[in-house]
Amino acid sequence: MAVTKQNIPKPLIPVEEALELILAKITPVASEWTPLRQSFNRVLAQPVTAQADVPPFANSAMDGYAVIAADCTGASKETPVRLKVIDNVPAGATPSKSLSPHTAVRIMTGAPIPEGADAVVRFEETSEYISVQQEPQAGEVLIYQAVAAGDNVRPAGEDIKAGQVVLEAGRRLRPQDIGVLAAMGQAQVAVHRRPRVAILATGDELVDVDQPLEPGKIRNSNEYTQAALVEKYGGEAIMLGIAHDTVEELTAKIREGLAQNVDLFLTSAGVSVGDFDIVKTVLAAEGEMRFWQVAIKPGKPLAFGSLGRPDESGNLRDTVPLIGLPGNPVAAMVAFEVFARPAILKLGGQRSYAKTSVRACLDEEITNSGRRHYMRALVYLEPDGYHVTTRGSGVQVQGSGILTSMVWANGLVVAPENVTYLPAGATVEVWILD
Ligand code: AMP
Ligand code: MG
Repeated sequence: MAVTKQNIPKPLIPVEEALELILAKITPVASEWTPLRQSFNRVLAQPVTAQADVPPFANSAMDGYAVIAADCTGASKETPVRLKVIDNVPAGATPSKSLSPHTAVRIMTGAPIPEGADAVVRFEETSEYISVQQEPQAGEVLIYQAVAAGDNVRPAGEDIKAGQVVLEAGRRLRPQDIGVLAAMGQAQVAVHRRPRVAILATGDELVDVDQPLEPGKIRNSNEYTQAALVEKYGGEAIMLGIAHDTVEELTAKIREGLAQNVDLFLTSAGVSVGDFDIVKTVLAAEGEMRFWQVAIKPGKPLAFGSLGRPDESGNLRDTVPLIGLPGNPVAAMVAFEVFARPAILKLGGQRSYAKTSVRACLDEEITNSGRRHYMRALVYLEPDGYHVTTRGSGVQVQGSGILTSMVWANGLVVAPENVTYLPAGATVEVWILD
């Protein structure tokens, strides 16, 4: 075979280096105000500072009697303390009377603590609930337990203090974050808009999911996997369909995608060294592209760069980053998790993109050869901690075309590039997929 520019073996670049180069070119998309109810799973664009204390006033943590703790010194079942009941405060009301020595106010959970009171005695510790021979007189309550100042009182600002930064920018909002925003009265939230991600499948062999499967053809699965992954990581997927391996068709599809205001472009296949791997040629013509052989398995070939986006008069308006993922479905998915996922998260404004991982005990030995191997794995919990099986390193289970291995897997064992052999029982890092 003649040595051409395309098939000169290039040095493999480490995973971290490729990821750093990609992330350096990604800038978060703009932010927008959104109603609180629509902010779930969106990324906060500004830190949220509390304007006021939450709760706004000291209130009772129990249904009971607000008292002066010092009045109840020595109170017990045998030697109850008798207090005069001067008021009754349900939640939502404001107390009208203040306590003077030897008085009490009947109070419900969440109601404001009346002036003068410094503790609440639960109903269970009073004559309200415990029947005794010695009946309290009307308008009086017997206290059966001593309390310390502050007991069963939730001070103002117990949860949130005015001026406190409660939520940092760059965080993806979870249900509890939404609740805290509601507690602070944030009806509108500044979040990043969803990044728009174009997805393009390439290959003469591909037909779409609803098309007849003619001889020599396979179905385009990558585009569907990737659209779901884009959504999983907070993006909006713009599916461009299939481009056949011709310069004209690929160029047309890329321009069609660029016209749709996308923030990131993903392609799959055609970045390897085969005869029809023309994605590289077209990408290079449409922008500035770099083609890497990354020290990763599966998914060695990877393209990254930017496409030029012309304005209406054909002048360069801006550029859109592009990640050219490999074609094999598992390789495409692994490369997505390793490279496209952090890119989409950063684009969406998120500030940390570490994949959740656990340390687990390997069920069987594994071998590796100089690349970082993300192996499909099933991680499970035993009384002594996490265990993980890869079902062995045979091609039949770890082959990069076996997409059902990803269906079986709930994790990826990360076999380091500098490790060639790991015995059964070794501790390994496992990325959690779900
Ligand atoms: P390539 O990088 O173009 O040589 O593709 C590598 C392998 O991935 C080939 O076996 C392709 O048929 C397969 N492949 C490429 N694109 C897709 C796709 N969209 N869905 C499923 N398999 C694909
Ligand atoms: Mg191809």
